[in-house]
Parts: sequence; C-alpha cells; structure tokens
Amino acid sequence: MIYLDNAATTKPNEWAFEQAQAYALEKFYNPSALYTEGYALQSELKKARSALLSKVADENFFELIFTSCGTESDNQAIFSFARRGNAVTTAGEHSAVLAPFAELKNRGSVETRVAPLKKDGRVDEEKLLALVDGKTSFVSVMQVNNEVGAINDINAIAKAVKAKNPRVIFHCDGVQGYGKIPFRLSKEIDLYSISAHKIGGMKGVGALIKRKSLVLPPYLIGGGQEAGRRSGTENVFGIKQFEFAAERKFATLKEDYERIKGYRELLWERLDKEVFFRISSKEATPYILSVSAIGLRGEILLHMANDMGLIIGTGSACSSNAKNRYSKVVLACGYDEKTADGVLRLSFSSQTTEDEVLEAAKILNEIAVDLKRRMK
Ligand code: PLP
Repeated sequence: MIYLDNAATTKPNEWAFEQAQAYALEKFYNPSALYTEGYALQSELKKARSALLSKVADENFFELIFTSCGTESDNQAIFSFARRGNAVTTAGEHSAVLAPFAELKNRGSVETRVAPLKKDGRVDEEKLLALVDGKTSFVSVMQVNNEVGAINDINAIAKAVKAKNPRVIFHCDGVQGYGKIPFRLSKEIDLYSISAHKIGGMKGVGALIKRKSLVLPPYLIGGGQEAGRRSGTENVFGIKQFEFAAERKFATLKEDYERIKGYRELLWERLDKEVFFRISSKEATPYILSVSAIGLRGEILLHMANDMGLIIGTGSACSSNAKNRYSKVVLACGYDEKTADGVLRLSFSSQTTEDEVLEAAKILNEIAVDLKRRMK
C-alpha cells in the first residue's frame, strides 16, 4: 500500500512510540497527584513543553498549552479572543477556523470578515489589510493551506496587521507548517496552533502556543490543569510521543524539505499532462501536490486508486452532500467547478520513498486514462 494522504494524518513515528510507551503502561499516574510517581510526571511534561515550544519560538516570550488537537487549539484561540467589534480570517482556512467563525456570526456577537485568496491559494494581503480597522479584535491567518499547500508569510502579515491596529490579537493555524517549514514565530504573532498527528505524533494531541503576556480566558474549565488554562488530565503518553516525534522531524526538517520537494516535482513530471492540471504552485509546501483531472471526478479516482493500492485525498469533503462536493479552497482560488471536482491531493511525509512516488504516478495515469475511456 502506498500512502499519499499525509496532509490528513501521518503514520506515528515508531521510535517515538517506543520511547513514549512507558508513559502509557508504567508511568500511567495522574500528573497532578501529590505522590512521587505522579508528581515526577510534571517535570516530564515540562520537558516536552519546552522541547516543542523551543523548536519554533523564543521561550522568553512564548509558552505552550497542551490541547487535544489542532481543532481545539483553533477553537480556543477564536472563542477566547474574537469577542468584540469584528474578526477577520481568510477563505483558505480549515473548517477548524471557518466553522467557529460561522458560529460567531450566528451568535451575532462579533462581525466576521473573510479575505479572498490569490490564484495560488495564498491570502490576498492587501484585501486582508483593507478588512482590518480600528474595531478589529482578532485576525486568523493560516500558515500552510491544507488543500493546495500555499504558504502565507505569516510573520510579515502579522506585522502589517499590527501596524494598522496594534490591539489586534493575531492567531495563526500552524497545523500544516509546524515541523515541515523552516520558520520561527515573530513577536507580532500572539497565538499559534499545532497538532501532533501531522508529523508522526498520535491523533488527539495538540497545543496552542501563546505570547506569555497574553491572558487566556480558559475554554475548558475544571481541574485547573495547564495552569488553569486548559483543564483535563493530561495525555502524558501522547504528549511525550509528540515530543519525541518532533525531535526527529525537526532534526531532519531541512533535508526532508529538499528531498520531498524533489519527489513533488518528480511526481508532477511523471503525471500525464493530457489529463492532469497542476494547482499547487512551486512555491507551495513540498508536502502537498494538488492537481485536477479536469472533467473527471476526484472522488471516483480516489476509489480507483484505493483499489490499486494507492491512498490519496481529494480536495472535496468527500460527501454526497452537493454543497460539499467541490473544494471551497480551490473555488476560492478562482477555479471553476469542473476543475474543483477533479481535484486530487497527493501529500507526502518524511517516510515517502522515490519508488512510491514513481509507482503512484503510474497508477494515477492508468486510472485517469481508464476512467476517461469509460466515460466516452
Ligand atoms: N488546521 C489545519 C490546517 C489542518 O490541516 C487540520 C487537520 O487536517 C486541522 C487544523 C485540525 O487538526 P486536528 O486534526 O488535530 O484537529
């Protein structure tokens, strides 16, 4: 089986899993307990917090709160800080941001504004800035788009937003960027969401990185864990496995970036240009290649590929619901419905090999020609 749906989730890093296993089976204690075994886990959590945070941020200015996933981190940021005036986001965001924005709109407490995308999937910065005014309380811009892979220069965007209104709280969904793109948080970014399972960690573990001086109203209240900012007994095993997986991922970040860029270009080079049209730009993350088999349905190709031993993603929500049939992001880039219907998302991880890429291209060409023939 060839797995090219790594933007959805990655296979857990086995070494990290083995390193962390003892925290599930032996050191299973409650880290908030007063007895020695429990209390000792506090320092293990502290180590993990510092290791994960220092990879992208200065620990003097930022701190990290563990959550259950990227979705929770995004929700926490939005519902804690988009509370007054208007809140601004982009048409390219993941539903973990767009759905809370829709909820804010429903509640009527905050006016919501959505900036359009450019053809390559990056936010149109000028139009985003035009939406920011003196009443803007919150801005959320993703780092790497999960469908087409476009990279927003979030440090520059945050700087420009703050120059216009220094009181804005700036959030970035970094779920597809953390551990994959060389990057460090500038001081203009207030909040940054990350998720373990995109880089070899387990599903159900995430974090919200925040500027230290920012007071975070908690979203989950209860036992007072995470210094009262996110209650719930910590998933020590998941957190330690995330720490170890990140250690491995960051150690090879630059080599992986270059190698995977080579794979992305190789895959594109081998795809039949009579059938496939490239959506992801060369400047996008190397980890995602989004293409469209114009005139064919991505969802059908996904199933055909699956039967041939290749797992891929589509741009759509893969739903029979007509409203979700087309990728909203691809439409927001300015493509028509026919192009959006044929989208395939091919996404890589540091485990992907050249042989897999070559075999995947062969399968994709074969099934696309087959489907075209059958449609005649
Ligand atoms: N944000 C982006 C950009 C994503 O790609 C995803 C997952 O696909 C999420 C948020 C949600 O992360 P999680 O699955 O950890 O909730």
